[in-house]
Amino acid sequence: MKIAMIGTGYVGLVSGVCFSDFGHDVICVDKDPAKIAKLQAGEVPIYEPGLDQLMAKSMAAGRLSFTLDLAAAVAGAEAIFIAVGTPTRRGDGHADLRYVMAAAEEIGAALTGYAVIVTKSTVPVGTNRKVAEAVVKTAGATPFDVASNPEFLREGAAIDDFMRPDRVVVGVESARARKVMQEIYRPLSLREFPVVYTNLESAEMIKYAANAFLATKITFINEIAALCERVGADVKAVSKGIGMDGRIGAKFLHAGPGYGGSCFPKDTKALARIGQDHAVPMQITETVIKVNEEVKRRMIEKIEDACDGHLRDKTIAILGVTFKPNTDDMRDAPSLTIVPALVGAGARVRVVDPEGHREGEALLPGVKWIEDAYGAAQGADLLVLLTEWNEFRALDLPKLARKMARPRLVDLRNVYDRDEVLAAGFETYTGVGR
Ligand code: NAD
Repeated sequence: MKIAMIGTGYVGLVSGVCFSDFGHDVICVDKDPAKIAKLQAGEVPIYEPGLDQLMAKSMAAGRLSFTLDLAAAVAGAEAIFIAVGTPTRRGDGHADLRYVMAAAEEIGAALTGYAVIVTKSTVPVGTNRKVAEAVVKTAGATPFDVASNPEFLREGAAIDDFMRPDRVVVGVESARARKVMQEIYRPLSLREFPVVYTNLESAEMIKYAANAFLATKITFINEIAALCERVGADVKAVSKGIGMDGRIGAKFLHAGPGYGGSCFPKDTKALARIGQDHAVPMQITETVIKVNEEVKRRMIEKIEDACDGHLRDKTIAILGVTFKPNTDDMRDAPSLTIVPALVGAGARVRVVDPEGHREGEALLPGVKWIEDAYGAAQGADLLVLLTEWNEFRALDLPKLARKMARPRLVDLRNVYDRDEVLAAGFETYTGVGR
């Protein structure tokens, strides 16, 4: 198949690279000249494990190329994927569809013959029909179909998720378009990965329902964690105990500093707005959004308590600021709420993150970036583990304790055991829900 991929962000680039690995001919398009220049030179502009090797392999095989020229990529393509951003619209919480609609109009103007226009971006219910209307405006009589193909990959494990998905969801309403989608995903269906075919609205809804459910699960355990702290229970034991129930499942039951990232915050807000627009309030999702904000604020109080109630002039070392490990993505990371609050209260904040520096520099003013945990701990009054990168999972605790002015640990990911930390020479250990 000849595929055009519009947008080369976390989703577009991974999808384009993986489709080319399936054997399809893929041209990836972006509006950002710096990004395209890097990609054409074989450089990956984001941090995603394994992406560079796979991209190099497909480029060398001549199945993958990059361009700024949308019209050239669309001409002759059998499927055109829209994978541009759908951030929260300023002011009202709706998904901002301006990039999707602009792409749809540009695609329409460039169509040379029948193609399926596939929305991979996360978009509110009804958007694919609007995409079809936008394309018609510029495509005139050129035939096309639209399809909804929401993406479920996780940053940090994106290639594996794309290549070995729990399921692929395709919303499609013509037999001709369905055939094209079947052909594109044949390498996965041959290996028995399930592809769910449904209508456009259901496919759009599946994506929001999935993300809202996962955000709810995380927020549920975070709320239980707060209660555990008051009653003397350990949320790690509680998660284990409930997670073994097959109806509940163990995943997404790790208490922490609240969900963040490029999807859950914006998608929960968008779902709440969709519900309001249709006079069916999404009350659970609305509560989840509110509770998650409280969870993040509670983390600031935890840090303050660990500093004897005073943050002014305290030296605090923060380990990890990306919204999760194995990505450089800082969008809506809990660190963006927590760190500025510490800086604002007069603390001297040092930050260590294996991949977050480039994105985080402008987002976290007033902090000092340090290369490694031990350098950051030197003379510090408090160590805070905020994002559980592997290199922070097996720290030499006695060495850290010796370096710190006041060896105290706030472990917002429950990576360490209290006894082990205290035995290593720390004065105090604070976890979440324990
Ligand atoms: P991103 O911001 O990383 O990338 C979007 C890219 O699209 C940018 O490079 C931008 O320059 C480009 N772009 C915008 N308008 C364009 C146009 N008209 N022509 C060409 N390029 C254009 O976004 P992302 O994280 O990849 O997310 C894309 C979509 O996928 C969103 O709707 C998101 O909700 C969804 N999604 C993201 C993830 C994730 O983990 N990031 C997972 C599943 C779904």
